[in-house]
Amino acid sequence: MQIQISKRMSKPDFQGEFVDAMLKAATAPDLISFGGGLPNPISFPVEDIEAAVNKVLQENGVQALQYSSTAGYGPLRSFIAKRYARFGVTLSADDIIITNGSQQALDMLSAVLVDPGDEVLVERPSYLAALQTFHLYDPEVLTVGLTESGADCDELEELLKHHSPKFFYAIPNFQNPTGLTYSKEVRERVATLVASTNMLMVEDNPYGELRFRGEGGESFGRYLGEQCCMLGTFSKTVSPGMRIGWIACPNRALMEKLLGYKQVMDLHTNIFCQMVLAQYLQDNDLDAHMTKIKNLYQHQADVMMDCIARYMPEGVRYTKPEGGMFIWATMPDGLSAVEVQNEAVKRGVLVTAGDPFYEKDRGVATMRLNYSNCTDEKIEQGIQILAQVIRDLLQA
Ligand code: PMP
Repeated sequence: MQIQISKRMSKPDFQGEFVDAMLKAATAPDLISFGGGLPNPISFPVEDIEAAVNKVLQENGVQALQYSSTAGYGPLRSFIAKRYARFGVTLSADDIIITNGSQQALDMLSAVLVDPGDEVLVERPSYLAALQTFHLYDPEVLTVGLTESGADCDELEELLKHHSPKFFYAIPNFQNPTGLTYSKEVRERVATLVASTNMLMVEDNPYGELRFRGEGGESFGRYLGEQCCMLGTFSKTVSPGMRIGWIACPNRALMEKLLGYKQVMDLHTNIFCQMVLAQYLQDNDLDAHMTKIKNLYQHQADVMMDCIARYMPEGVRYTKPEGGMFIWATMPDGLSAVEVQNEAVKRGVLVTAGDPFYEKDRGVATMRLNYSNCTDEKIEQGIQILAQVIRDLLQA
């Protein structure tokens, strides 16, 4: 018997192989990893979560172990809604759906909005797993380039004259993979351009709370109201393992469809975890917790930027993030980041070549460097090795 796999899952999937290779390499002992995007364990408040688990079981054990509502646990939805005030948006608990990580939110939006052949718009480069998700729904994926201050607005304006994407998926704060952030001017201009169309703005903001320098970060919801869905997650602030993310969706009609789809997918997100998280957030000061994480990431980012400046050959450019977990390096033209990645792994350093973050471009000279999970010594050692790899390949 030969099992007939759907066309959807039979498409050649270059990016899947890429991730597999990276994950395998990441488990090798002694490897210096700038490759993944794992939060530092400093962000996991193990003892406080233990206390929250005990309290939930003692005080509300039956509710925590029973089926629950699709939209999610009320107190957690309220906490999330209130926190949007700091990003300039007024929301209520009714606007929030708790999802199984923001990854599920990407799938829900695609399922509800995209028919085969529809256009969707993403940044160039963009988050690899979002691209993979969108592709399952057979859209035409359009891209808009990024500048140091966010989406290239001239390119966006020109593109919108000829295309009608269903949505624009953007990561405006400390983007994955580039670490870039939209300036206020760019946010306003993008919002004006989006407002002149029927497309939905999908703002994915997993890193927004990780600003360690500078200011800003208003949500697109502030400018676009119902025309904007905001995705968020506790993965980078409390725990990725708990798989608690959300969609903030002020548009009622869209909200209903999202809830309908989620109900079919999984009925609801793990209520036990939702209640534990809500209890943790009630009993602890998330801002104080975030300060510890941000101080560490700022230090690690500074060490990495300093080492890049010191050791990399001339012609290597890099972004200077004000938050988040990533630096994006651009090497001299002609160099292949995949070759750099392969050679660096042989010498004990893992990086992520830029290729899978692009919709079409391959053989690019860009790569993503993650700094959130390394000691100062490892960062220095790893960047020295990487610089030597680049030097060697430039001379080859
Ligand atoms: N969006 C972006 C831009 C991300 O970087 C990530 C995590 N790497 C996610 C979404 C998914 O996060 P989670 O499902 O853990 O909430």
